[in-house]
Amino acid sequence: MFYHAKVQLNPEQAIDLSQTAKMKIQEVIQYLESIAPRAYQESYDNSGLLTGNANTELTNALITLDCTEEVVQEAITKKCNLIIAHHPIVFKGLKKLTGSNYVERTIILAIKNDIAIYAIHTNLDNVHQGVNKKIAEKLGLQNVRILLPKQDNLSKLVVFIPQSHADAVLTALHEAGAGQIGNYKNCSFSVAGMGTFQPNDVANPHIGEAGKQEKVEEIRAEVIFPSHLEGSLLKALKQSHPYEEVAYYINSLRNENQEVGAGMIGELAEALEPAAFLAHLKKSMGLKVIRHTPLINRKVKKIALCGGSGSFLLPHALKAGADFYVSADFKYHEFFDAEKHLTIADIGHYESEVYTKDLIGELLTKKFPTFAVNFSGTITNPISYYL
Ligand SMILES: [Zn+2]
Repeated sequence: MFYHAKVQLNPEQAIDLSQTAKMKIQEVIQYLESIAPRAYQESYDNSGLLTGNANTELTNALITLDCTEEVVQEAITKKCNLIIAHHPIVFKGLKKLTGSNYVERTIILAIKNDIAIYAIHTNLDNVHQGVNKKIAEKLGLQNVRILLPKQDNLSKLVVFIPQSHADAVLTALHEAGAGQIGNYKNCSFSVAGMGTFQPNDVANPHIGEAGKQEKVEEIRAEVIFPSHLEGSLLKALKQSHPYEEVAYYINSLRNENQEVGAGMIGELAEALEPAAFLAHLKKSMGLKVIRHTPLINRKVKKIALCGGSGSFLLPHALKAGADFYVSADFKYHEFFDAEKHLTIADIGHYESEVYTKDLIGELLTKKFPTFAVNFSGTITNPISYYL
């Protein structure tokens, strides 16, 4: 039997809302990056706007896993001037654009037709509400958390504020994205103390006068924030703080950021026999085939997963005590590393990530209820199975 690994969305599901209010492509990008900041992409990645001008008015958007020539053609037909793809079609430097391969031809076709291609790749893999959350949702997992949280992407701001302005400054910092810890927002710590300073001749002090030593009751406030927000946070600080020279310092933190990182782990509501879990996996992900290591004679409860190429996370799935590790792109020798501690289920790269289209569509329609979203009907999976 010959078939395509067809787990595509029904194109009829397309939410065609061409009567949308006018908006620019930039607004869509800004919103998506408020959920999956580009700062969270891996160093090898190339997420972001790949062709087009973000200031162009949006007509319709086409959501796809891969951007190929066929997908650009589909965008032309459906009058979409924005393609939102998970995988970036341009992954490494292009030295020429002559149409000698599918990457060049896709880019040329998009540019000729004023179509913006935007990729949201490993930044969407690495956030809590991203690719892996969608897979966990399909499998009905509970108590999900990031399997390998990232370090070194959090900072701490310490600032000294006159008591009269403490609330206003903290509110501005929180609005700029500081003080978010897990399910808690607007977190901060403050302690009262005495600040001293002496303005010079050219200073324009909010309190005090030139050449005179001052003592002011101040608050020392501390907030945690994602490091990539430093610029906007300092802007908010300087706008809300009354002093000409704001006294502050920033430290980088080594803390793990539980909200950002690779893979996910969660639990089934009820433990299943291994074969029953495989059946559940096949059904819930719409699979035709699963490559897996030998089943282990114990009930299955804890599931680790990673959409796309996830073999690098196997040691972490083992360490976390997972019963199954669901991912894709395992090489022959890598399967041996399961060592009967867990079962690897390789469900295919495309098959593991195809619901990312749903995820992007849901995120967009939540924010822009009248947004023109179309799901691509092109099956971009380059792999077929002959059974
Ligand atoms: Zn992928």
